[in-house]
Amino acid sequence: MQKGKIGVTTENIFPIIKKFLYSDHEIFLRELVSNAVDATQKLKVLYNSGELKEEPGDLTIRVKVDKKKKTITVSDRGVGMTAEELDKYLNQIAFSSANDFLEKYKDQANNLIGHFGLGFYSSFMVSDKVEVITKSWKEGAKPVKWICDGSPEFTIEDAERDSRGTDVILYIDSDSKEFLEEDRIESMLRKYCKFLPVEIAFGKEKEWKDGKYVETDKDKIINNTKPAWTLKPSDLKDEDYLNFYRELYPAGDEPMFHIHLNVDYPFKLTGILYFPKIRSNFDIQKNKIQLYCNQVFVTDSVEGIVPEFMTLLHGVIDSPDIPLNVSRSYLQSDSNVKKISAHITKKVADRLSEIFKKNREEFEKKWDDLKLFIEYGMITDEKFYEKASGFALFKNTEGKYFTFEEYEKLIKENQTDKYKTLVYLYSTDKHEQYAYIEKAKLKGYDVLLLDGQLDIHLINFLESKLTGSRFVRVDADVIEKLIQKGEIKKSKLSEEQIEDIKTLFKGQIKPEENFTVVSESLEETDFPVIITRSEYMRRMKDMSQIGGGFNFYGDLPDSYSLVLNGNHPLIQKISADLGKDLADFLKQNSSEKARIKEEVEFLEKEQKNKKEGEITEAEKEDLKKLKDELEKVEKERNDKLTEYSNGNKLIRQLIDFALLSNNMLKGEDLNKFLKRSIDLLQVT
Ligand code: ADP
Repeated sequence: MQKGKIGVTTENIFPIIKKFLYSDHEIFLRELVSNAVDATQKLKVLYNSGELKEEPGDLTIRVKVDKKKKTITVSDRGVGMTAEELDKYLNQIAFSSANDFLEKYKDQANNLIGHFGLGFYSSFMVSDKVEVITKSWKEGAKPVKWICDGSPEFTIEDAERDSRGTDVILYIDSDSKEFLEEDRIESMLRKYCKFLPVEIAFGKEKEWKDGKYVETDKDKIINNTKPAWTLKPSDLKDEDYLNFYRELYPAGDEPMFHIHLNVDYPFKLTGILYFPKIRSNFDIQKNKIQLYCNQVFVTDSVEGIVPEFMTLLHGVIDSPDIPLNVSRSYLQSDSNVKKISAHITKKVADRLSEIFKKNREEFEKKWDDLKLFIEYGMITDEKFYEKASGFALFKNTEGKYFTFEEYEKLIKENQTDKYKTLVYLYSTDKHEQYAYIEKAKLKGYDVLLLDGQLDIHLINFLESKLTGSRFVRVDADVIEKLIQKGEIKKSKLSEEQIEDIKTLFKGQIKPEENFTVVSESLEETDFPVIITRSEYMRRMKDMSQIGGGFNFYGDLPDSYSLVLNGNHPLIQKISADLGKDLADFLKQNSSEKARIKEEVEFLEKEQKNKKEGEITEAEKEDLKKLKDELEKVEKERNDKLTEYSNGNKLIRQLIDFALLSNNMLKGEDLNKFLKRSIDLLQVT
């Protein structure tokens, strides 16, 4: 019997490690089973190379829980260890590497929350004694037993064991009783060991017999030793990929398509990624990408390893080249990880491009489900944008799809304004913005449907990419102004008439409506009153709703404009129907205003030619008096018009009409509008 002290410098290293690693206790099982798998794989190599002469026999790894003895045993039929190897691998290497690890991270407890391979040593997180009984494959090797009770002291002694291989027996400590529950162990095995390459048995299969479940002789194998990603793509059918998806996510909807990753150089990486249907935020993150290292499950939080938008995908990535023993921030700066991330991005983009080129129709059908993913990728990943801009699609309000290039060609001629800016018209709701869309179509324009969650971000982004282009929603202004071509049509009303009409409408706008009243000379066939909503303010508000640093804008009032069409017969009718009294007053007010204005202008001109000191107080006083008078005359006009406006049904009717066509007229106001409509119909 050999006695000794493990090469650990800190005597009380066990309590420390137990405390630090608290959140990740369950990884001990992953580490022990992985070691058993390694030992088995090594044995296979020895047999294949002819070094091992005898048949390897049953290589199943067995995990057992003995609740009474409070033990968990992991048994393998792998290479085993000689006494020397035991000493070397467990005493010197395993323990010293654990010690190094602790030394390195003792100030950074947070980093320990991540994932790392503490290997064999991690068994002490849950046990107060560990025994290893092992017999090497080498001829004449004697079975040996290693015992360590949780202090850095160990013993190695002779043992009884006929067959080659290793049993690791954990004596579970009182804080870790949960691991003596079979269900717990089974779920841990299914989580970490589901795709390990050597069969792992945990208990026996059960069958239904005479009204109850009874155990059969058959081992219950918890893993699939040949998961799809380890096979050659040429050996797999679509059905196989689908079945594997179901194995990964039993509750998931069917994915749209998959990508099989297979890289050898400059790093090793395999995996299968699936494109799920993503229509809304609710779908996101339901099924996460799982990261494996040589078929051992490591984590399903792959942020930092793949670009953020890729985390919308599902599936498996397996790479022995992703360093697992480090913190996330280190991971993100690791050059291997960067390469891996760039490679996956490229592969995904290539695959999408391939589907697009091979079967455009199919791609278009899937676009609505792909859109969120592709847009997210374009906005956040320059490299992805470069590729995706070739296959990303715009959908217009008629349901037709175009690539960016096709669309530009389509609208180039007709939708370039007089400033040479190419104007992309869009709608976020086909029904609510129906009237505006129709108007644009009448002009021969095309309107995009941008109703996705990321579209607002996308257009901001595209405006920075597609130089000389601008996106405006169809209701951002009257169509003549959205895409300004030549000169704006001349108005049939005089400037003064227009101002009066504006005053009349202002008189009936409620304080909460907060509209700016403007007038445009549109076609007679256009609506008499139109409501538009400033593109800039609306976009800022939309952005603030999605979040992202625009909260300031969220609190600002909406900026709507009430646009009066001075050429519409109804507007002209209002102007013509003011009545003799008011018309006379306006006429007189006009000439008075004109007279005072003329005098003001004359005085101003005169004073302008003088130096500051030369203007007398009396002269200044004269000018001020005239200006006050002008203001008074204007106010009188304003008051008279407002007074008239109050009793005018037609004006409020036209405002309500504009609100209604924007889906903004609701409740009591809508009811009033309906009643007023009947009244007005009865008058005529
Ligand atoms: P790692 O697995 O990262 O090398 P471990 O601390 O888990 O570190 O194990 C140390 C060494 O002990 C292994 O490299 C291996 O040589 C040996 N070992 C551990 N478990 C077994 C086993 N079940 N059978 C044979 N050798 C083993």
